[in-house]
Amino acid sequence: MTRIMQGKRGLIMGVANNHSIAWGISKALAAQGAELAFTYQGDALGKRVKPLAAEVGSEFVLPCDVEDIASVDATFDAIKERWGSLDFIVHAIGFSDKNELKGLYADTTRDNFSRTMVISCFSFTEIAKRCAPLMNAGGSMLTLTYNGSTRVIPNYNVMGVAKAALEASVRYLAADYGPNGIRVNAISAGPIRTLAGAGISDARAILSWNQRNSPLRKTVTIDQVGNSALYLLSDLSAGVTGEIHFVDAGFNITSMPTLDALRR
Ligand code: NAD
Repeated sequence: MTRIMQGKRGLIMGVANNHSIAWGISKALAAQGAELAFTYQGDALGKRVKPLAAEVGSEFVLPCDVEDIASVDATFDAIKERWGSLDFIVHAIGFSDKNELKGLYADTTRDNFSRTMVISCFSFTEIAKRCAPLMNAGGSMLTLTYNGSTRVIPNYNVMGVAKAALEASVRYLAADYGPNGIRVNAISAGPIRTLAGAGISDARAILSWNQRNSPLRKTVTIDQVGNSALYLLSDLSAGVTGEIHFVDAGFNITSMPTLDALRR
């Protein structure tokens, strides 16, 4: 059977280790024949990302810190030089000071607000702008968001505000690049135990609440997110753009705890 990503090349930004959502996505793409390049943030993570990239047949691994625009430019220069074009991109990057991922949102500092917005939101726009000229034959861009963008999730605070802006960016970028055949979407993943996820205070309690109260009575895995990403990055979703697609075991549709959970 033909593999659906055969002949497609894409860049994965945001693998930190084998628990990363971006790693789940990478595995799903590679299994369907995609050729992958990776970026990593800093040498310590580079040591983890390079062997993972090798597992999916890639040695095209580049350093990139989105706070340093020169390193973003260098990444896309390297892609242009080696591949000349790009079919898809995964932006799975988020950061906020963990001291502000607890307590009151109102206590967010100006510095951390700006830094969170630049890394977790604006970087997607900067990356999209550099990707688009490489997507001559059309393409697909994907970012990762969370339900804390539209609902109040305890401790998610400034990350929720950044994710709201990120989701709005998805819609504006989809409108900008749609005429070029480039689609832009986001997956809103349910909570998953990852490095970034662990930075949110009471992450375990949030995970357990989702597990007990989502319609599927479980939390999602990076492989499940990976398979949904495969759909959004492949031609299977050729008619879909500007979409925020929930992969959260259905948690977002609920309005109250399950009666089972209430009676327990
Ligand atoms: P992760 O820690 O594995 O990945 C976060 C990545 O962001 C890391 O690879 C890190 O290096 C990268 N990053 C942070 N600052 C950066 C910078 N300045 N430059 C370049 N890269 C930088 O955690 P994850 O949970 O896989 O997070 C991936 C995305 O998924 C994030 O956007 C996160 O907000 C989102 N998300 C996570 C969950 C969850 O529960 N884990 C749920 C929904 C959405």
